[in-house]
Amino acid sequence: MKRIALLFAILATFTLIAAPAFAMRYVTIGTGGVTGVYYPTGGAISKLVNKKRKEFKLRMTVESTGGSVFNVNALMNGDLELGVVQSDLQYQAYKGLGQWKGDAQNKLRAVFAIHPEIVTIIAAVDSKINGVADFKGKIINIGAPGTGQRVNATDLISAAGLDLNKDLKVEGIKPAESAKMLQDGRIDAFFYTVGHPNGSIKEAVAGARKVMFVPVDKNLVDKLVAAQPYYAAADIPVKPYPGIGNKEDVPSFGVKATICSSADVPDSIIYDITKEVFENLETLKKLHPALAVLTKENMLTGLSAPLHPGALKYYREAGLIK
Ligand code: GLU
Repeated sequence: MKRIALLFAILATFTLIAAPAFAMRYVTIGTGGVTGVYYPTGGAISKLVNKKRKEFKLRMTVESTGGSVFNVNALMNGDLELGVVQSDLQYQAYKGLGQWKGDAQNKLRAVFAIHPEIVTIIAAVDSKINGVADFKGKIINIGAPGTGQRVNATDLISAAGLDLNKDLKVEGIKPAESAKMLQDGRIDAFFYTVGHPNGSIKEAVAGARKVMFVPVDKNLVDKLVAAQPYYAAADIPVKPYPGIGNKEDVPSFGVKATICSSADVPDSIIYDITKEVFENLETLKKLHPALAVLTKENMLTGLSAPLHPGALKYYREAGLIK
């Protein structure tokens, strides 16, 4: 009897004290539509981290979501541990601006930045849209609620002096469906704030209806950059899209994709993920062509929310931050 009691006592002690140290930690990263760059990037990061899952006791899964705005809100609700968020929206959410006006997301934390994204307008050549002013009377997919492009499209259209509700017919379709809608003649153009190259635009270019990128006038870009510290002028590359109706790179503006978390996510989780990504950067860069430009230095720019302490610990250890 005594022995059995002792055995139970040992087991109970183990369960209470030692077992949590061996328990698997589960982490979900929220991304965007499956034909964007966030989703494969989230997959690439998960793949790296999961290689060490036995050592780290960490299992990462990737989820396709509505995009940046959705990810910020899901991080704050505790539905996600990590999320990809545009730099402009990280700034707005943390500062309580834009759609978070008066509701600053104080627990939002920056982990690292990834690839640049460009506000890209893809139009059917037969719709004759050569600039934002030509949107008048056209059917434009500004992006589904929850996406970053919806915010950028709204900013651009109002900077051009157009009324979103009166001057054009607005659609709010998911990125994965936009290319098909354009090819089917159901929309004239769609917005996508995205890294290049990406699957959605390749799909749009591959169809029978000829498509082109719509340039954004320099004066509009200047106006937007002056109003939003995380907007910058950027050119859309035409090279990855043979068959597109533009001969040269197309002027527009852009942001950066960043990885965010919440102050409620344990430091050890963020430390392990950050370390694994930075120490295997060459492998990560090969997993998607949009990630080829990453350097340890540029991955620390474009961040406006405070750094997550787990990430900061690694950056200090690695000498990337003093
Ligand atoms: N930038 C887009 C967004 O925030 C997503 C782009 C992507 O999925 O690659 O909604």
